[in-house]
Amino acid sequence: MQKKIIISLLAACAPLLSAEAKRPNILFIFSDDHAEAAISAYGSHLAKSAPTPNLDRIAKEGAIFKNSFCANAICGPSRACILTGLHSHANGFLDNNHSRFDGTQTTFPQLIQKKGYQTAMIGKWHLVSNPTGFNYWEILPGQGSYYNPDFIQMDNSRKRYQGYCTDIITDLALKWLKDEREKDKPFVLMCQHKAPHRNWAPAPRHLNLFDDIQMPEPDTLFDRYEGNRSKTLKEHEMGIKDHMYWGHDMKFHGKESMFPEHFLSGIINRQYERMNDSQKKQWDAAYEPKNKKLINDIKSGKLKGKEITQWKYQRYIKDYLRCIKAVDENVGRLLKYLDDSGLAEDTIVIYSSDQGFYLGEHGWYDKRWMFEESLAMPFLIRWPGVIPAGVESKTLIQNIDYAPTFLELAGAKVPIKMHGRSLVPAFKDTSKSPPRWRESIYYSYYGERTHHVAKHDGIRTQQHKLIHFPTTGEWNLYDLKKDPNEMQSVHQESDYASILQSLKKLYTKEKKKFGVNNATVPRPKLDQQWWKNRHREKVNLANKGDYDLLFIGDSITHGWENKGKAVFEKFYSHRKTLNLGFSGDRTEHVLWRLLNGELSEKLQPKLATIMIGTNNTGQVHQESDETASGIKAIVDLLQDRRPEMKILLLGVFPRSINPNDSQRIRNQEVNKKIKGLADSKNIHFLDISDKFLNKDGKLPKSIMPDALHPNSKGYEIWANSIEDKICEIGGWSKVKD
Ligand code: CA
Repeated sequence: MQKKIIISLLAACAPLLSAEAKRPNILFIFSDDHAEAAISAYGSHLAKSAPTPNLDRIAKEGAIFKNSFCANAICGPSRACILTGLHSHANGFLDNNHSRFDGTQTTFPQLIQKKGYQTAMIGKWHLVSNPTGFNYWEILPGQGSYYNPDFIQMDNSRKRYQGYCTDIITDLALKWLKDEREKDKPFVLMCQHKAPHRNWAPAPRHLNLFDDIQMPEPDTLFDRYEGNRSKTLKEHEMGIKDHMYWGHDMKFHGKESMFPEHFLSGIINRQYERMNDSQKKQWDAAYEPKNKKLINDIKSGKLKGKEITQWKYQRYIKDYLRCIKAVDENVGRLLKYLDDSGLAEDTIVIYSSDQGFYLGEHGWYDKRWMFEESLAMPFLIRWPGVIPAGVESKTLIQNIDYAPTFLELAGAKVPIKMHGRSLVPAFKDTSKSPPRWRESIYYSYYGERTHHVAKHDGIRTQQHKLIHFPTTGEWNLYDLKKDPNEMQSVHQESDYASILQSLKKLYTKEKKKFGVNNATVPRPKLDQQWWKNRHREKVNLANKGDYDLLFIGDSITHGWENKGKAVFEKFYSHRKTLNLGFSGDRTEHVLWRLLNGELSEKLQPKLATIMIGTNNTGQVHQESDETASGIKAIVDLLQDRRPEMKILLLGVFPRSINPNDSQRIRNQEVNKKIKGLADSKNIHFLDISDKFLNKDGKLPKSIMPDALHPNSKGYEIWANSIEDKICEIGGWSKVKD
């Protein structure tokens, strides 16, 4: 009897064991700015007019996720979240203005490659630095081009291909699948399109698609931003009515608008400039008659006001959907190859996009806002044998989950520091959320010059959305069930008082969980020329690489170059020491510097000392909890990038003359909190505060004349107090007095 049970148990486990032994391939098809409303499987107002049969096929043969969201709705940041499984503040790529992806950090491609997967990245990358962790890559420079695009090669050279970008990316992906990968290994192929990103240039074969139909308008095309919503909404510069360029967006020749009250001037349609003669001919044949008609209709007064906005919407949405038509066809080519080659059965296919897009909703194009249209990321998945055909999931998923998911699929360990969670359980049962699943997703947009969208963050649960706008101090609350178009913020309605309160609590909890606060969000001081110069100088030194010891900190560390210079010469010059102390810096500035070149790959020091935080508590009066989390973020970053390097974390030095001064006490609280970061292996903690103080706890002027910065005597105390410890950790012999 018992034997029988065991045998049947083994039989039940058999498919599981063999599935585990044979790890699936992952084909990750990803586009740029593809709104769910433009995939017919999601069933929007556009579904009938612009069907996407090949994308729908993935959903029909697998699952469609209806609550899938990004963590930060712009191109670079979303991609960085995907690679790292971390929210933007922790992976360092906050915006597309001055972020550069630090490819030395832990990413899923690196980890999955170590587990024997072949990894390839083809198409739009948009993270400034080159890809790491890929066996093969070929990427578009920056935004890339629709027509005759250039690609950066692995040797950093550039190659131009003739043709249409979406087709070429697929050709390259197919070439890698057919001829270039090692076929005895499982693979992850990231096939990432430029389309349907602005300026929405369709393929020649689609230039006249949709000519004979009118696309339905969204209900909120003429939104007036009322309903107690944030006053920052009105300040946007992403409106179809007011912010479409004559050349670039609307595809008229030249950059000067003939109707400046309706169209912006200043940017030509650069895609046209790249076309060859035959492409230009086809383009002009499609656009010029329609353009001429518009010019005549405005001149004759046949079209005016609102009707011109409606015309612009039609021009925009049709070009956008034409770009998607090519994406859909190319998805079809990839699916066909999987069928023909016999790979389909062992290959998970995922279709997603870096974030959604406004297709006229709220009068907008573009993204950034935490409203549904850009917050949502399409997510379609086919996993033969595991996900039944045609299922739907309402589980709250996010792009930070992709890295843990891919790692679990590959049988790799998911680093505990990743913020996301593996979606494998959500794939295996789409009928409900996995046990102990998240109640909400956290979102943060850090603000950029482009399109003038205010910085904001918030959470979204199954039914509600809470948004905080820090610059105006506003809160917005949306009931997505009653108001799916988000036209009314109910944050001041008494019926919602208790919901508001509990959502605010959840928001605080989520921020704490991910460690998001002013001390942990990397921040440059590029507006200060001396800081910018010093950073550049330190990056150059770091790139030389010949250093064994790092000093990381603020003005107190900076001071080794002036008041502490003689002591520095004696103790540290011969130890090849790099001083990364910057006057006035807080933890967030240190994080930015380390992410942006000061921790060059060439730099392989034995030991880093850190002493930072007194400007967090003193300058901006941050709570000790936040300051400590900023220090922890620095330690985490160093550990991630240099797992072999030792760290000597120093307690924040005492400040203020009197021991009962609040700033002094706050620094002591920070020290109590960071003490626990020591792991008795690589991270050591030392608090030398007492060495600077009199017996009565007072900070003497003879050591720190301004009760904050040491003089030369103070630097001598510092060096002497850590000498034993750094020799013990770093293996140096002691400097003799
Ligand atoms: Ca994008």
